[in-house]
Amino acid sequence: MSKILVTGGAGYIGSITTAELIAAGHRVVVFDNLYQGHREAVHPDAAFVQGDLARPDDIRALFAQHPDIDGIMHFASYTLVGESMQQPLKYLRDNLVNAANLLEVAIPAGVRRFILSSTANLFDKPERIPIEPDEHIIPGSPYGESKFFIERLLHWHKEIYGLRYVCLRYFNACGDTPTIGEDHSPETHLIPIVLQVALGQRERLTIFGDDYPTPDGTCVRDYIHVVDIAQAHIRAINLLADPLTKIQSHYNLGNGRGFSILEVIDSARRITHHPIPTEIGPRRAGDPALLIASSEAANQDLGWTPHFTDLDAIMRSAWEWHHTHPKGYLQ
Ligand code: UDP
Repeated sequence: MSKILVTGGAGYIGSITTAELIAAGHRVVVFDNLYQGHREAVHPDAAFVQGDLARPDDIRALFAQHPDIDGIMHFASYTLVGESMQQPLKYLRDNLVNAANLLEVAIPAGVRRFILSSTANLFDKPERIPIEPDEHIIPGSPYGESKFFIERLLHWHKEIYGLRYVCLRYFNACGDTPTIGEDHSPETHLIPIVLQVALGQRERLTIFGDDYPTPDGTCVRDYIHVVDIAQAHIRAINLLADPLTKIQSHYNLGNGRGFSILEVIDSARRITHHPIPTEIGPRRAGDPALLIASSEAANQDLGWTPHFTDLDAIMRSAWEWHHTHPKGYLQ
């Protein structure tokens, strides 16, 4: 059975993907600097190596310890759209350099399969909704641009070294499992913040702008459950095991349905029975009005269909984690 390296495997999506990989019978090595990730989130059957992609020596030590790694799922990165508008080089430089550091060691070590955690933030001004994988790319922020840089890095590693890769551009990752969940500090994402209001940890939710050109004026997003995202990664890495598999270099992952911020709040009210007070604040820099994915290509080529298609089901899974872990991993 293959051995997969999961960078950022102590983070939200990486840790849940690690658990799903192990459940599917893969061996997993998690590499994480634990700046944002949580050691407790790493599945006990995964090998864990603490290290930093900014330090090539850490990566060399990782591959010396695990020379049989044959595939990589690369989640480790800075991921906040808003922060990237304040500190662009943290994204444009560090996300790119860290991925380059990883490839510089992984390619000579014999890695031939690579899945990149990419983003819908590549599509700031989509011409068609739902967004097809071939939509033209206009990153909405330095965060999105940094992921595009890495996509290009992978393209050239395919051309030159024969690396087989897939970039999975996910829309709004959300939801939790009963034991592994979303715990960012500070938290910036909509669903966990709404649930923090329901837990009495915040007085109200600030809605970032209600004057967007959308039906109710608030931003519309395609919310996709993190377990569904994990399953797409597993399908993609399995397909890449066969060099003859016909597979595209990038796919969009979403439910194909958009929900406004107000609809997300209504769902949280239904699930938590909390009134969730709100206020309207200014727009957040870097936010496109409307992002909805077409996942048809992922459906056809990867054989992937999301299991969580209903916003209330996603919200329920998130609420289950948040109300049983009100302080996240700090129980
Ligand atoms: N949002 C909001 N208030 C918050 C957090 C987020 O209104 O406290 C909005 C945000 O501006 C965006 C949507 O909720 O329109 C989803 O944001 P999130 O950060 O969860 O994901 P993103 O779309 O940035 O990936």
